[in-house]
Amino acid sequence: MQGLVIKTTGTSYGVYFPDGTTADCHVKGNFRIRGIRSTNPIAIGDNVEITQLEDGTNWITELRDRKNYIIRRSTNLSYASHIIAANVDMAALIVTLRHPETSTTFIDRFLATCEAYRVPACIIFNKVDLLNVEELQELSHLRQLYESLGYATYAISALQLNNDEVKNIFQNRITLLSGNSGVGKSTLLNAILGKDVARTGAISSAHHKGMHTTTFSEMYPLNDAWIIDTPGIKGFGLLDIEKEEVGHYFREIFNIARDCRYSNCLHTGEPGCAVYQAVADGKIAISRYESYLSILEDTNESKYR
Ligand code: GDP
Ligand code: ZN
Repeated sequence: MQGLVIKTTGTSYGVYFPDGTTADCHVKGNFRIRGIRSTNPIAIGDNVEITQLEDGTNWITELRDRKNYIIRRSTNLSYASHIIAANVDMAALIVTLRHPETSTTFIDRFLATCEAYRVPACIIFNKVDLLNVEELQELSHLRQLYESLGYATYAISALQLNNDEVKNIFQNRITLLSGNSGVGKSTLLNAILGKDVARTGAISSAHHKGMHTTTFSEMYPLNDAWIIDTPGIKGFGLLDIEKEEVGHYFREIFNIARDCRYSNCLHTGEPGCAVYQAVADGKIAISRYESYLSILEDTNESKYR
């Protein structure tokens, strides 16, 4: 029987079947996937084949090919990585301009990572009810910037949701929800799912301290859609990327880089650099260029980000 992994607890997996039922399933210790060195063989979003034994226990016996997967390097210092989720149709980043402020560098790193994984991304600006006139202008400026790059953006207040509008964002697909803590991810989840699935603010912060190893990802059904919540994972990083690759994950830099004099141009002051010129001409946003440089800087320090 084929099912969809919607919950991982470390020792077992919650699997959802087409008839709407779910079951707790296990996986044999020697279950390995060729070509991926990860600490978890099965992740949320995986399509798996389940076999039920005579004693009533359910076992994952096969993993269907993945369309994509998002990984993060394991916290222990091994080279193995941890798969956050598989078969993700969209990654949504919740961002706030104030209380707390999400930096454009954080946004751009998120988008670059999504490009690397070939996962479409969108940005949800939350807490717009708190913004003054100037901040609203900043919001509109940022939305224009990201929309012009081809990323859908939304401006919402999770405390005063127009539910239908927000639900449309998630329609018909599997969405991974991310965001710095405090941006309102739990509030939004609880509001659209209409129940308390995620713990919000004040209570959770004390509770979650040092508990990251025991909080596991979960995927919640929303009509014909699924939303993946990954507690404890604020963002996800670029793994093992070469300096020359960084520019590929910034759409506008990638496009303009074709006109650079040198094909291996890193856009850091080389002669004939079209990207540098475009920044000077205001055709590439300075904030985007700075984010690009910051990732480039990281690749100098460590191959793993
Ligand atoms: P999380 O850490 O991303 O899960 O953030 P929470 O959902 O716990 O929200 C953090 C705080 O922001 C809580 O006190 C929420 O009530 C508040 N909050 C969330 N969304 C909004 C919003 O749209 N407007 C305002 N004013 N406050 C919000
Ligand atoms: Zn260049």
